[in-house]
Amino acid sequence: MVKLSPSVLTADFLTLRDMLPKFEQSGVDMLHLDVMDGIFVPNISFGVPVIKSIKAHTNLPLDVHLMIDSYIKEFAAVADWLGFHYEAGSNVAETLKEIRANGAKACLTIKPKTSAEEIYEYLPLCDMVLVMSVEPGFGGQKFMPESLDKVRKLSAEAKRQGLNLEIQIDGGINAETAP
Ligand code: ZN
Repeated sequence: MVKLSPSVLTADFLTLRDMLPKFEQSGVDMLHLDVMDGIFVPNISFGVPVIKSIKAHTNLPLDVHLMIDSYIKEFAAVADWLGFHYEAGSNVAETLKEIRANGAKACLTIKPKTSAEEIYEYLPLCDMVLVMSVEPGFGGQKFMPESLDKVRKLSAEAKRQGLNLEIQIDGGINAETAP
């Protein structure tokens, strides 16, 4: 089943509270929250306090995409799904276990230049994998169609390993590319 997790990255944060009921009414499945600290990607967004405020005003599951390599425990406490980048330099297996141990579902994220095969060994520790279909860092970029091949490979490998894995695709998704 296809689920929708719209990103609030390009939202007006001062009116976000008014937008939350609109997200709920529109039937989306969760909210995607991009966390950047200006180091792993050249942009800064928001952190735990903003996510806590969003959580207080919506029942939608929060799907947090970390583009930082620290504060896993703190984010796991406020996220329903917590993803981090394979390329960010942390111990991948330990971080996935830490996310689950702190009550969130674990998601491993890969950038466009990382192959699907590189993360096959970690799939049993993942509840979801996120395939970036743009270079991470900024909203509003153009979808890279070659990322679909990675989704196909990960889907086949998850089946081969007998895993119930969600596969998320992030970047340049709009009414034209979503189908
Ligand atoms: Zn994202």
